[in-house]
Amino acid sequence: MRRRKSTIFFLILGISLISLAVALQVGWILLNLQQIALLVLGILFFALLITGLVLNTTFLVREIRKSEQQDAFLNAITHELKTPIASIRLYLETLQKRDLSKEKRDAFYDIMLADSDRLLGTVEQVLAASKARERSRKPNTTQVELRELIESCAGQIANRYHLAQEAIKITGASDPLLVKADRGELETVFLNLLDNAVKYSGASREIAIKIRKRQNGVAEVHVKDKGIGIPASELKSIFKRFYRVPSGSPDTPKGTGLGLYIVRSIVESHRGKIFVKSRGVGTGTTFIVRLPISE
Ligand code: ADP
Repeated sequence: MRRRKSTIFFLILGISLISLAVALQVGWILLNLQQIALLVLGILFFALLITGLVLNTTFLVREIRKSEQQDAFLNAITHELKTPIASIRLYLETLQKRDLSKEKRDAFYDIMLADSDRLLGTVEQVLAASKARERSRKPNTTQVELRELIESCAGQIANRYHLAQEAIKITGASDPLLVKADRGELETVFLNLLDNAVKYSGASREIAIKIRKRQNGVAEVHVKDKGIGIPASELKSIFKRFYRVPSGSPDTPKGTGLGLYIVRSIVESHRGKIFVKSRGVGTGTTFIVRLPISE
């Protein structure tokens, strides 16, 4: 009887000890699991917080940059609008107040016409930039012969800047190169590239245009100048709306930062591509436009 009692006692003790060990083990696992769960949750929330912060900061920096660029654009556009208006006004006042010789008057009329062209150019550029943002616009496409179009653009630019005939050289493709394009828009592309090539060339106004046919049914046009060049770090940004390469010099030509944005939008809407190459400041710049040839 005593033996049975002690057996029961040890049995209960054994079961209790085993239960305690199991409870301890399970408790320990549960406790650890909870910690692991807490750890995983912690890491998750931390990662979420960091991602949120990074996204927030990126957004803020982008917005600040955009607003800075818009300020710079407003300054540039105000200048571009004000300067020719002020100039025209001055000449008109002089014409009104003084009795001038015919030659003087004609010279004044020429300057005023050039100023009004500049004014019109700026307004047209702003309009073209807002048009480039319209996704639904439909280009008015026809067959355009590339060399003839580029020669016409080169002629207009040579006229605008009173350049010598040999200042803009055109070489390559003697066979007609037809592309399906909106003639007016394609003209805007090459007029902008050539205008920039002259504007950012300083005194060394030597521009070389090379037109060639690539193997895969693509026409390629190189517009190369020997001007101020573009630093490598800026090459990616120059096609952005309102973007102008920062410069500390007051001699830097004025502009709105819209030209290349319009150029890229038009080239891409014609299923083409545009690239820029420059080995840095003072080494000149080459813009390369590729457009699909129409059969
Ligand atoms: P804008 O000439 O009105 O400033 P663009 O969009 O035409 O605007 O050009 C953007 C920037 O790219 C210019 O401010 C200039 O710094 C740079 N750039 C464009 N074309 C040339 C070039 N041919 N040579 C050197 N820099 C250029």
